[in-house]
Amino acid sequence: MVLNVAIIGSGFAGLGAAIRLQETKVDNIAIFERASDLGGTWRDNAYPGCRCDVASNLYSFSFAPNPRWTNTFSYQPEIWRYLDDVAPRHKLRPLIKFEHDVTHVEFDSVAQLWSITTTQGLYFARTVVLATGGLAEPRVPEIPGIDTFAGPLMHTARWDPSVTLSDKRVAVIGTGASAVQTIPRVAGQVAHLDVFQRTPSWILPHLGHPVRERTKRLFATLPLLQRMNRIYGYWKRELLVLGFVKDPSRMTRAETIARDHLTRQIDDPDLRERLAPSYRLGCKRVLLSNDYYPALARDNVELVTTSIQCVEPQGVRTTDGVLHECDVLIAATGFFVTDNPMGKKVRGTNGATLAEAWRGDMSNYKGTMFPGFPNLFMLSGPNTSLGHSSIIFMLESQLNYAVKAIRVALQRNARVEPTEVAAEQWTSALQEKLPGTVWGTGCASWYLNEHGKNTTIWPDFTFKFRHQTRHFEVRDHVVSN
Ligand SMILES: Cc1cc2nc3c(=O)[nH]c(=O)nc-3n(C[C@H](O)[C@H](O)[C@H](O)COP(=O)(O)OP(=O)(O)OC[C@H]3O[C@@H](n4cnc5c(N)ncnc54)[C@H](O)[C@@H]3O)c2cc1C
Repeated sequence: MVLNVAIIGSGFAGLGAAIRLQETKVDNIAIFERASDLGGTWRDNAYPGCRCDVASNLYSFSFAPNPRWTNTFSYQPEIWRYLDDVAPRHKLRPLIKFEHDVTHVEFDSVAQLWSITTTQGLYFARTVVLATGGLAEPRVPEIPGIDTFAGPLMHTARWDPSVTLSDKRVAVIGTGASAVQTIPRVAGQVAHLDVFQRTPSWILPHLGHPVRERTKRLFATLPLLQRMNRIYGYWKRELLVLGFVKDPSRMTRAETIARDHLTRQIDDPDLRERLAPSYRLGCKRVLLSNDYYPALARDNVELVTTSIQCVEPQGVRTTDGVLHECDVLIAATGFFVTDNPMGKKVRGTNGATLAEAWRGDMSNYKGTMFPGFPNLFMLSGPNTSLGHSSIIFMLESQLNYAVKAIRVALQRNARVEPTEVAAEQWTSALQEKLPGTVWGTGCASWYLNEHGKNTTIWPDFTFKFRHQTRHFEVRDHVVSN
């Protein structure tokens, strides 16, 4: 049977796509998921301390508010549970084909169909939604000798709860978002912890707190109140664009708050100096934590800022010749972002893969479609990620456009793809904006591709993206049979 829509991935994006398609009466949908459960990011990142850094009232579907959040910035188990609750309410579970790892997605120009090769068989679909996530492929660093490490080695996104940390010597490589969340949890239980830092992060005080029972009851009985809280949170975050995008020098105020936070929490002047970033706040992801610095100040924790030379069976050797012995190695080293492996698995009309088509400029239309890849829609696509607000807002915006385009393709039994000109205009307009933003102030970050080009971040107010994705603009597309 030929599917109307094949959705690949069952995180926020895949589930959101299925819900929106069902609402518009598109049927015959399947969701392919390589894991044995749904949830994406929030299934995979089960490391201690994992939580969102955008308030839960905003970091959730607009159409599925949750009055029961127990914390204003929820922890991973609760966000995963939220997705698990949303799915049955929209009868999604029967649509999901679990343990179907998609290995190839190819357009057959004769049949005008996409073929989807999975580890459990071949499927065909008229349209495809790639909801495989921007932060879904853990990147274990290619440090010489890392495979020779004698003890357990785990990436934060593949946390193994059976690995005992109590009273062990543990090393964490990386000091980004996941590290900052997990180090305070790990530091208290281990005999010794080495934290390997390449570049310090800017860290602001965390404003998250438990939600009072009275507030939960109010949100449950008066949903409008929760809606207003979401709207308030949304606009407060939009104001951050003035610093991130319009005038990065405005970041000095936030930098002062972060420096004061560091000074208050770290007494040792040498440690403080090594934790002080020297790039503009916002250039790399801004982190929130009240317990990271105190964890580093513990007697059993050492911050190592000398570069890593190699990993040996007994531990990590730094370029000064010191071997930092450890029993467990934790890679808090992020994901394949600009070089997401999914790009190599998708082949369009001229036989090129998405990765090949993107080489150089990642030409795309509204972060969602690509010339030469008809009826293929990518959620969390190029330049749709954010430094200041909720990705769910962006996903829902992408869906406004994608669902309309999918309906055109299905109703007219047509191939829909953006024109080269429209994609070129969209991509170059974005790229022209980026150098003047905080992400263009000269730091190395995972937002940049191998050529130093930012193919990750949306450099503007998110309401502008919402506005630009509200319609299917026929003139920007080739619609053919
Ligand atoms: C620790 C962490 C914290 C974060 N916190 C925030 C936050 O506070 N605010 C925010 O806006 N964003 C945050 N993000 C970003 C987050 O990834 C997105 O907000 C959102 O969850 C992405 O949803 P998604 O559905 O696009 O991708 P994912 O949740 O990554 O889901 C992708 C799904 O596709 C599946 N998949 C991938 N490849 C294949 C394949 N070949 N075949 C079959 N299935 C496949 C995966 O198994 C997965 O289930 C965070 C990310 C991480 C890692």
